[in-house]
Amino acid sequence: FNVPQPVNEPVLSYAPGSKERKLLQQALQTALEQQRDIPMYIGGEEVRTDKKVTIRPPHKHKHVLGYYHEGDASHVEDAIGAALAAKEAWEGLPWEQRAAIFLKAADLIAGPYRYRLNAATMLGQSKNAFQAEIDSACEIVDFLRFNVKYMCEIYEQQPPVSPPGNWNRVEQRPLEGFVFALTPFNFTAIAGNLPTSAAMMGNVVVWKPANTQIYSAHVLMEVFREAGVPDGVINLVYVDGPTAGDVIFNHPDFAGIHFTGSTGVFQHIWKTIGNNIHRYKSYPRIVGETGGKDFILVHPSADIKASATAIVRGAFEYQGQKCSAASRVYIPKSLWPELKELIVQDIKSFKIGPVDDFSNFINAVIDEKSFDKLAKYIDAAKQDDDVEIIVGGDYDKSEGYFIHPTVIVANRPDYVTMCEELFGPVLTIYVYDDGQWTEMLDVIDKTSIYALTGAIISQDRYAITQATYALRNAAGNFYINDKCTGAVVGQQPFGGARGSGTNDKAGSMINLLRWVSPRTIKETF
Ligand code: GLU
Repeated sequence: FNVPQPVNEPVLSYAPGSKERKLLQQALQTALEQQRDIPMYIGGEEVRTDKKVTIRPPHKHKHVLGYYHEGDASHVEDAIGAALAAKEAWEGLPWEQRAAIFLKAADLIAGPYRYRLNAATMLGQSKNAFQAEIDSACEIVDFLRFNVKYMCEIYEQQPPVSPPGNWNRVEQRPLEGFVFALTPFNFTAIAGNLPTSAAMMGNVVVWKPANTQIYSAHVLMEVFREAGVPDGVINLVYVDGPTAGDVIFNHPDFAGIHFTGSTGVFQHIWKTIGNNIHRYKSYPRIVGETGGKDFILVHPSADIKASATAIVRGAFEYQGQKCSAASRVYIPKSLWPELKELIVQDIKSFKIGPVDDFSNFINAVIDEKSFDKLAKYIDAAKQDDDVEIIVGGDYDKSEGYFIHPTVIVANRPDYVTMCEELFGPVLTIYVYDDGQWTEMLDVIDKTSIYALTGAIISQDRYAITQATYALRNAAGNFYINDKCTGAVVGQQPFGGARGSGTNDKAGSMINLLRWVSPRTIKETF
């Protein structure tokens, strides 16, 4: 194929004394001194309003990071207008030229923007340096480079068979209308991937990031502009969800949504689109990655150290705010005493605090709403005789939204925190009798509405085979002897079904195919 062969962007270590650590510290310093004024971007114009909203770091909420300009329905209308105005020229551009723009964006992020974007992710979303690096440096770069490869494979596909006298071909057209990208706070990479993957395939986009991610979304937008994304192709607006939805889903040119966020919001959007279906030119593409209640199942044959590492990393990296985070774990009684000790010891060694101290592993949760929700679940567990908190249970929002990593042990597998998504550093464990192994497979499959990620830790090949089959519908990403987070673009295409989304695997050809509408052409000679 005719594009550079992508390789995954190497992860920098940020070890004490390293060059990258110094550069990142400088970027953090600069960001903290700047108090940026962040406009919307509509049709290439920076748009400011008289409604300035303060952005604060979740781990130091008395500090002001900057301001964003909030828009209203008229800005969403303008963004749609700008997108539609840019459409003809953009879709007429040869795909190689579009590819070049996104390859350049990848190079800009891997190079000159790396520390600025990581610093923005760290400060705005309270991510430690390593978690920022794997997200806003490596994963977004991988999305851009690998998607360009998949895009090339789509455009250079073998044509269908043509008997003599005919020439049959299939042309990949961009969707007729505009695409709405509605993006989450927890991964800067996802926020960048959702608008660019649709745009790459020749679509024009209205992008609305989560309010809690605007600080880094704005840096991404600067990259896209510098890389040469033409005015109007990606329009970035900051508007509250219902206002944006009202304009977008009533619009006859609405052609698709690329979404990552909660299951509830996605279901609401789906219904709204259904109610408006008569308005649209085509059936819109609805692509979404939503919630998770991701499991780790430990088999009696498991390596105990490997189990502890998978559980603790899977549950608590980025404060458990990954859709993929382990939040329900099933451990056999025979391994429990030893495993419990390792888990508790590991968690007690975590340092908790702001991101600028690089030794803090746990930072703040995203905002007060999330903090309050998590505190409520923890309080309920404290009062419930059916469960025990074996580590954590403390929280404090005086300076930042800090929830101590908490492990609840439940004496029934359908306890509320074994089933509902909490999206924070709270893990629930159920200890099963070793003889109940097969029953556990059924319990895992049935006690949650989600099916995003899951893992089995086992040295027994029969058990691995049995679980892989029994849990075939319980996770879109299934890990054997590993944690259930950290999918790498190009290596483990990511997504789940059931309540977890449409499973159109982020960073894959499957996903890019959703952003085109093929036309079959038969020519007779
Ligand atoms: N792709 C990420 C992972 O594998 C999770 C993405 C998400 O939280 O939405 O950990």
